Amino acid sequence: MKKLLLWPLLAFGCAAQSQQNMNDVALTVTPLTEHMHMLEGRGGNIGIFTGEDGIIIIDSQFAPLSERIQAEVQKLSDAPINYLVNTHFHGDHTGGNAHFGSTGVTIVAHDNVRKRLSENEKTASRTDAFPTITYEQGVQLHINGQSVIIMHVHNAHTDSDSFIYFPEENVLHMGDVFFNKRFPYIDLKSGGSIDGYQEAVKAALMLVNEETQIIPGHGPLASKADLIAYSEMLSVIDERMRQALQEGKSLDQIKKEKLVGDLSDWNWGFINEDKIIETFYNGLSAND
Ligand SMILES: [Zn+2]
Ligand SMILES: [Zn+2]
Repeated sequence: MKKLLLWPLLAFGCAAQSQQNMNDVALTVTPLTEHMHMLEGRGGNIGIFTGEDGIIIIDSQFAPLSERIQAEVQKLSDAPINYLVNTHFHGDHTGGNAHFGSTGVTIVAHDNVRKRLSENEKTASRTDAFPTITYEQGVQLHINGQSVIIMHVHNAHTDSDSFIYFPEENVLHMGDVFFNKRFPYIDLKSGGSIDGYQEAVKAALMLVNEETQIIPGHGPLASKADLIAYSEMLSVIDERMRQALQEGKSLDQIKKEKLVGDLSDWNWGFINEDKIIETFYNGLSAND
């Protein structure tokens, strides 16, 4: 039953993630290029871009980690943190927004990140956590002599997702449109969709090459090969689930038949075989 209790933590981030149980979280910083790093702690993977003009960070994990995250970032460069870009609105990616927002960092994200943070009763009062620059389709940031491309992908993991692409560094941050080596969580209740998710993954595949380093929302640093494997896993589930639905099978029946039993390597704490079947079942049924 633990799974049920933990589930909302992933979906909404969590106010109950106290300072105390965050003190033990190890922060790991991995260099990708001279100018880019990936920071893993708890919650979504953070991307860090440093240079002469300043710093961009992508996502902010949970509030109790903010000061330690900031310290890790400033170890890489003493330039100011100019921008915090959110890949989407979930609390495990925006929990630190208020800290950075209140210290003068400009928060940039899709329109629906601002909308959802301001409409959720848990986050509505933290106006310093809201993005102050928002966009509908995308925006570019010109900093450190480079152009950083931020592009919205429609109704994928949520309705607020963006990719952040650094062409000159050949690094792509995909947010939760990529759970590397794990089944995805697709937030159907917040505008995510089965079709949109897979389309977004395919769009990312068009963008990357063999040398691209891909920062997934969760899981280890990835390559194009990892993303191809992920895309193929999604296609297999998609095809089998559509077939099962066409045959009029019930959710229980599909679970009992262990329809994705051969894909159990992708299981993890929050999304196991039954959960991914449920997601596809609900998502695909909603299309009818
Ligand atoms: Zn996440
Ligand atoms: Zn998420």
